[in-house]
Amino acid sequence: MLEPHSHAAGKWIAPGREARVLASPVTGRKIGRAGGGALDFQAMIDWATTRGGPALREMNFHQRAKMLKALAQYLDARKEELYALNPLTGATRKDGWIDIDGGIGTLFVFASKGRREMPEGHVHLDGGIEQLSRKGSFLGQHVAVPLRGVAVHINAFNFPVWGMLEKLAPALLAGMPVIVKPATQTSFMTEAAVRIMLESGLLPEGVLQLIVGGTGDLLDRLGAQDVVSFTGSARTALALRSQPGLIERGTRFIAEQDSLNASILGPDAAPGTPEFDLFIKEAVSEMTTKAGQKCTAIRRMIVPAALLDPAIESLRARLERIEIGDPAEVGTHMGALVSAAQRADVLARAGRIADEARCVFGAPDAAPPDCAGAGHAFLSPMLFCCDDPDAARAVHETEAFGPVSTLMPYRDLAHAADIANRGQGSLVASVITADPAVARDLTLEMAHWHGRLYFNNRDSADEATGHGSPLPHMTHGGPGRAGGSEEMGGVRGVLHYMQRTAVQGSPDILAAITGQWVKGAAEKKGSAHPFRRTFGEIEVGEALHTKSRAVTMKDIEHFATFTGDTFYAHMNEEAAAANPFFPGRVAHGYLLLSFAAGLFVQPDPGPVLANTGLNSLSFQKPVSPGDSIRVRLVCKRKTRRTDEYGEVAWDVTLYNQRHEQVAEYELLTMVAYSR
Ligand code: NAP
Repeated sequence: MLEPHSHAAGKWIAPGREARVLASPVTGRKIGRAGGGALDFQAMIDWATTRGGPALREMNFHQRAKMLKALAQYLDARKEELYALNPLTGATRKDGWIDIDGGIGTLFVFASKGRREMPEGHVHLDGGIEQLSRKGSFLGQHVAVPLRGVAVHINAFNFPVWGMLEKLAPALLAGMPVIVKPATQTSFMTEAAVRIMLESGLLPEGVLQLIVGGTGDLLDRLGAQDVVSFTGSARTALALRSQPGLIERGTRFIAEQDSLNASILGPDAAPGTPEFDLFIKEAVSEMTTKAGQKCTAIRRMIVPAALLDPAIESLRARLERIEIGDPAEVGTHMGALVSAAQRADVLARAGRIADEARCVFGAPDAAPPDCAGAGHAFLSPMLFCCDDPDAARAVHETEAFGPVSTLMPYRDLAHAADIANRGQGSLVASVITADPAVARDLTLEMAHWHGRLYFNNRDSADEATGHGSPLPHMTHGGPGRAGGSEEMGGVRGVLHYMQRTAVQGSPDILAAITGQWVKGAAEKKGSAHPFRRTFGEIEVGEALHTKSRAVTMKDIEHFATFTGDTFYAHMNEEAAAANPFFPGRVAHGYLLLSFAAGLFVQPDPGPVLANTGLNSLSFQKPVSPGDSIRVRLVCKRKTRRTDEYGEVAWDVTLYNQRHEQVAEYELLTMVAYSR
């Protein structure tokens, strides 16, 4: 018998007398009980904020990112324990792959983004320095720091592992402890994943707690430093987000709700084209994967009126091949819905759609597979066709959260966009077209109503990730009906758990706060040439001022013939002088870069291993033959990358003999920890 426990203030708590019965979606028989445990919600908040929060904030972004990576590796090694439970949710192994491997993959992506895109420090920089004064003695910088409360994650039943991990990863990376509350029906999967993560020993105490069952008065106890991130139906979202306590205290509320996602078949995608086949394939996959219980599933298929009949025929032919059966069996294409209650709910909603649309495939009373017992949750895919989508309402408003979708004909692109937009806000809309002009027109007409636009055609088909897959790199969410929030999107998702603060002050003040050298801040003089110093020895703010070097016409001509860059600005006095940027022939920018390296480089083998790149290069003043240049090199930022070396970013500025700045850039070098 499954008895998922809560994990509160360091203890596992068993289901209580009020526990809900969990029934098998295949047989309808009891498989366990969940919820009703005696939880002290204030103690949970205190546990998170007095233990988990401080422990996380002591770590920097990179340490937290490494923790996420180790967690992902640990979960990956034990994922078969989760796959063993997966069929009890009605899901096939392939469905489970999205949930389990998809969740672990999301952890890996956040771990990688944390190390690549966030500093090895405690303050995240949001954007660059803002010049707030003429001389540069007063600057601005947006920074972000973790909120000091707890993140409460209330999740939907359909992805008990991914749904938890896609929220957990950004919260932990930000530095916020989490209380996870999964949907009770599939809480045993979440509980198993939480147990594995806690057993890993990788998470500091207080960082992760679990509520199986109701949230009691937890939300009433939250304040302005806490975050509630909800995924589920629009109805529950409305009930939760309108709680006066949350509004009064300004608790952040993120909502990922249901949505009437659409897929549009481009006018160019006639039968016989790869795009037509792709549309049919993706549409059927979205209807049947996870038995259609995906927030991003295609609920409305919008096709050119002339292609309606071929689309119906092709969809029917493909749907007929879908094997519905025991989700634990290898050959099964589609398992069951999560519960008999969910099945009843989907049937009721499909009934509302049937008032406006004809059923062209499947039937509510189709016979279940042989393995089904009384109280099973199997449902055949049901495809409807709504011939007058302009007059219809239910098809644009009713989310049947199962294998149910409705076809609709469109006259022209404006009509297609109008139908898609009648969902009043979706997580994703897809367009299958090989015509870039169609993609552009539809983007302009639709993007304001959809959180994600997915275009696919013969060029991208092999590598496209699928209409229904939210990716950790991209934002997931949508306007209006879809909840009006965003999740993931790389570091954007991390910022939901942080406070963005505009910091203003002198360069030295900003350098101290950000841990990075800022133009105008004090420079330090190192005891040796910086290229002779190890990663640990180099200090942020350490500067090198080189001697100067004359730039001659001979140098320019030599460089031009040597590289082949004989652009007229370097070779033809008259033509160069006619150019509004140049007084006459000037040195190549790349020649200046090369001379700069010649001025600051220390040539002997040493701790500097490689020059790995250059950012934000700008040439600001032309350098004429007879001018001379010198360089200032300042260590701007240090980031450990591997066990042997780290990245040192240098602020490089070139000046002429009149002390005018002629060029600047950020130089990246890899520097060894030891000689
Ligand atoms: P739901 O009934 O709204 O429940 C969602 C979560 O809210 C569950 O954990 C549920 O817990 C909890 N909950 C319900 N009432 C609550 C209350 N008064 N206080 C605190 N928590 C409460 O949704 P669902 O049936 O699990 O999921 C299906 C819906 O989610 C669909 O509409 C689907 O479109 C949507 N969804 C959206 C996304 C997205 O990213 N936008 C992703 C997946 C699913 P219990 O189970 O204990 O009631």
